[in-house]
Amino acid sequence: MSRANSRDRQLRERAEAVIPGGMFGHQSVGLLPDDYPQFFAHGDGAHITDVDGNRYLDFMCAYGPNLFGYGHPDIDAAFVRQLGQGDTLTGPTALMVELAEALTAMVTHADWAIFCKNGTDATTMALSAARAHTRRKKVIRAKGAYHGAAPWCVPRPAGTIDTDRANQIFCDYNDVASLEAAVAEAGDDLAAIFAAPFKHDAFIDQADPDPAYAKRARELCDQTGALLVVDDVRAGFRLVRDCSWSRLGVQPDLSSWGKCIANGHPISVLLGSNKARKAAAAIYVTGSFWYQAAPMAAGLETLRLIRETDYLERITTLGERLRAGLTERAGAAGFGFRQTGPGTMPLFLFDDDPDLRKGFCFASEMLERGVYVHPWHNMFLCAAMTEADIDGALDAAEASFGALKTQVRDLAPVEKLAFLSAGAR
Ligand SMILES: *Cc1c(COP(=O)(O)O)cnc(C)c1O
Repeated sequence: MSRANSRDRQLRERAEAVIPGGMFGHQSVGLLPDDYPQFFAHGDGAHITDVDGNRYLDFMCAYGPNLFGYGHPDIDAAFVRQLGQGDTLTGPTALMVELAEALTAMVTHADWAIFCKNGTDATTMALSAARAHTRRKKVIRAKGAYHGAAPWCVPRPAGTIDTDRANQIFCDYNDVASLEAAVAEAGDDLAAIFAAPFKHDAFIDQADPDPAYAKRARELCDQTGALLVVDDVRAGFRLVRDCSWSRLGVQPDLSSWGKCIANGHPISVLLGSNKARKAAAAIYVTGSFWYQAAPMAAGLETLRLIRETDYLERITTLGERLRAGLTERAGAAGFGFRQTGPGTMPLFLFDDDPDLRKGFCFASEMLERGVYVHPWHNMFLCAAMTEADIDGALDAAEASFGALKTQVRDLAPVEKLAFLSAGAR
């Protein structure tokens, strides 16, 4: 797609002057194909439109928040109604209690809720609550697992100091022996074990949680008195209408949520069991916008849709349709194409593609055909998608595999991903 004089290019140039690096955060990394737009104008249902007017079926769903469709009429009406009543006030409205009641009724392990704005707020509060509860320092988490962008967990070291990461022990996800070794290393100073609901790291295949790993994490917490934290910020309500590890019969003490719980409106939450209630009451946590009422109204409506609609069954079926269709088309084109993770949160990687040059080419070809996919991060399905959308994406994929086939021998290495083949993965 020619973007030389596009509005997107113009905005990038202007951003260079007033936004450090031209962009920050998950769009800043510059690790997407060059033809991927940086700036968007509009979202409707399952689609996004960039500033140049190109409309795409969006398999990123805002990196998770879009669960029921952009601009969902009922959710946004609840939000707007509450804006008219009051949003950021001196204290919360009754909605805060109602939302806490709704969440604790839906999430088995949860007896209480503390609301915040970002997933990072919730994971960081989990860390503090666990340390307050145990009066211990060490936390165990899996290598490569994302828990947010605070100094204790941010994936890039710039601006952090060694002590920000002190008292953390890393294990390998799904590896019981490495988890046990980490617990042994923590000795009598273990405050918490953090766990992603499944392995959803970037750049590598996703993996389902091994039930033996989840059960052992629970046992080790029970034996040591440490708290078990499941970070459901990304996967929450896309696998089950409860904490994700409830599917394995494992209940954590704390779980962090965000992204989709108000369908894109800014709110996140730490949920906890009675065991951790006193510690959660003792830590001082707050923010200027944490009592905002309008996102809570949106959250209540989102939770109602989660409880009362078959959204989960539908996105699960759509995910299966997408996966089966892609397997068939990739096979027909002769590509080894790996689709990992749950069907509602798929990740695509090509075989023999260490620097992702095939993945980048495929993603660009899909974009050209109106489908926004990601070459190395997990994607998301939303309930606004239809069978026709999935079938359209499969048609685009068939053509994109064909286009990739004609280019594959001449593809240049993706310079900006050289670190991947250098073994930094
Ligand atoms: C996105 C994410 C976070 C951080 O949430 P923010 O709202 O971006 O601060 C934490 N944990 C996981 C698993 C996430 O995917």
